[in-house]
Amino acid sequence: MTRRELRDALRPAAGEEAELEAKFLLEASADEAWLAEAVQRRLAGEPLQYILGEWEFMGLPFSVGPQALIPRQDTETLCETALSWLKNRPGAKVLDLCCGTGCIGVSLFTLGGAKVDFADVSPEALALAKRNAKRNGVDGAFFESDLFDRVPGAYDLIACNPPYLTGAELAGCQRELTFEPALALYGGEDGLDFYRRLAAEWGKHVRPGGLLLLEIGHIQGAAVQGLFPGARIVKDMGGLDRVACVERI
Ligand code: GLN
Repeated sequence: MTRRELRDALRPAAGEEAELEAKFLLEASADEAWLAEAVQRRLAGEPLQYILGEWEFMGLPFSVGPQALIPRQDTETLCETALSWLKNRPGAKVLDLCCGTGCIGVSLFTLGGAKVDFADVSPEALALAKRNAKRNGVDGAFFESDLFDRVPGAYDLIACNPPYLTGAELAGCQRELTFEPALALYGGEDGLDFYRRLAAEWGKHVRPGGLLLLEIGHIQGAAVQGLFPGARIVKDMGGLDRVACVERI
């Protein structure tokens, strides 16, 4: 298949991204049979990233699959915020909570020199995070844990991208999102369930002088500030509220 034929075949599913997706698929392609199957999967709505099985985040390589969310550019805002905090704190101890692929923790280890542990409620996601950690030369502890339930000890920095979509957002979402695990997306009817639980529990797990960083939905800034008084909100590259920074005094 030529690039142009591939682009045209992908157009119904990929729209304006068809050109770019064709480029990615051609680079990854083993043979024509693989490409033909990839097109069928893409036309059925499966995200390009799952078809490739690989995606880049913060310039680092990650294995991706339906057991965890695809690393998103939005989440780079959280990583950049964490990295600037880590700059003056060499060897800080970090927890990537609700780690999914492990993309946040791996980035903070590789780019921030932190010592990183990982936690996720899903054993399948945690296995993927382990694979990504190994792939990127990260060694840390892995906890299969519903938020903090089985996380021992306290950290200098906790970075967490919890599920935060509302019931309505999930119901009205685009087809690609239905291929990602709802467990990693759905934050209860108002999207705030995990922030409420975190607000009750975080104090025991962040050391004095430490920081809790939470990714948030773009409409959740005020609600999350209500749950974490004094939280500072950081905007993403699109100018939308994206991260809540909560300092432990
Ligand atoms: N930002 C993601 C999305 O809109 C949701 C991520 C999450 O729930 N943690 O698809």
